[in-house]
Amino acid sequence: MPNNHAFKASIDGVSQQRKPIVTVYGDGQLARMMEPAAAELDIHLRVLASSPDKSAAQVIPDVVLGDYHDYEVLTRAAAGAAALTFEHEHVPTEHVEALIAASYNVQPQPSALLYAQDKLLMRQKLEELGAPVPRFAAIDSVEDARAFAERVGGNVCLKARRGGYDGHGVWFPSAEELEPLVQELLDASTPLMAEEKVQLTRELSVLVARRPSGEVKAWPITESVQRDGICAEACAPAPNLSPELAERASQVGIQIATELGVTGVLAVELFAFAAAQDAGSIFASASGAPGMVVEEDIAVNELAMRPHNTGHWTQDGCVTSQFEQHLRAVLDLPLGETAPLAPITVMANVLGADQDPELPMPERVRAVMERYPEAKVHLYGKDHQPGRKIGHVNVTGDDADETRRIARDAAHFLVHAQWANN
Ligand code: ADP
Repeated sequence: MPNNHAFKASIDGVSQQRKPIVTVYGDGQLARMMEPAAAELDIHLRVLASSPDKSAAQVIPDVVLGDYHDYEVLTRAAAGAAALTFEHEHVPTEHVEALIAASYNVQPQPSALLYAQDKLLMRQKLEELGAPVPRFAAIDSVEDARAFAERVGGNVCLKARRGGYDGHGVWFPSAEELEPLVQELLDASTPLMAEEKVQLTRELSVLVARRPSGEVKAWPITESVQRDGICAEACAPAPNLSPELAERASQVGIQIATELGVTGVLAVELFAFAAAQDAGSIFASASGAPGMVVEEDIAVNELAMRPHNTGHWTQDGCVTSQFEQHLRAVLDLPLGETAPLAPITVMANVLGADQDPELPMPERVRAVMERYPEAKVHLYGKDHQPGRKIGHVNVTGDDADETRRIARDAAHFLVHAQWANN
């Protein structure tokens, strides 16, 4: 059945006349957080979940249960949908292509998604587009690793090409560790690449959304703090970022979205590093414009073609959240304004403590509400596990330090049942 038109269905006796159905392949917090926007816009959301207790399945009534590796399951979840989209990159490409061949409207398409799935192909494509990337190489043997290490003076970051997340699949081996590690990973059939280890000053991200008919919009640049490969905090607009670099970062995001034909939200994670000093010991301008002092430069780390942790602040800090924008974009609706609502918004992740405190989570939420009425708590309905993302807190304000203090303290209490600032 062609799926570019809204589907007329009846759910529990309620007429769903021409209400567009969006199917999300995924059952985590990203799919869950699309639900408020879908409800506001009267979009019918359906999720494909592996079990009914998954984060998104708890709050979205239309759940198809099954395994996304199974094409029959994917088509069952696709029935009548105006658009099919993803909250992760792992649906097999051949299945996505088969869905397109069967006339389903898949957004984003595998021709773009490929570059969010494979870090080596992504680096090669970005280099071809002229986007800034660290030096990199395919690693198919210990000899490749040795040659690359020589090229970059031993500053090697080794990465699994596929399947990594939250720092799993990223290694920073010493000179002695590199070759045995490469051998071990290749023996375990892990396709590898290596890139130069960048001396980061901070990490930034540019989020953009693009719809099939071509409209693209970027949000203000976000600064993120990663701990052990996991996003701990995000702050936007990124403090102390030169307007020139902010503009350049936006253009990088818009260019990548446009040239790869991405649809929906695209997050481009960026490394910021000190720009090379010129002969006169003034930091060289990244753009080369004479007389301009730019102390930072950027390179692309990676791409995610879905809402992203560094964009959660847009829920409370922006005219249009990334979740609403993703739905608008995959349905080819006009995109919403991306202007910030406050001078600064800070998002602090709630990551499971080593030991979950005895105070139940609803009591922790009550205490945060009492102390910080300005804090917006977002929980994912996930059980405690050490280090697991179980929620986040957004706080908007005028002052970056004070806003950050409140967001951190509120998140800290949700994690530890103790105030950080006592
Ligand atoms: P994942 O796909 O697991 O999120 P990333 O490639 O984003 O992995 O790497 C996780 C983190 O590791 C990054 O956020 C950054 O802090 C660090 N990192 C990754 N690549 C490099 C690099 N080339 N140089 C320095 N740090 C890096």
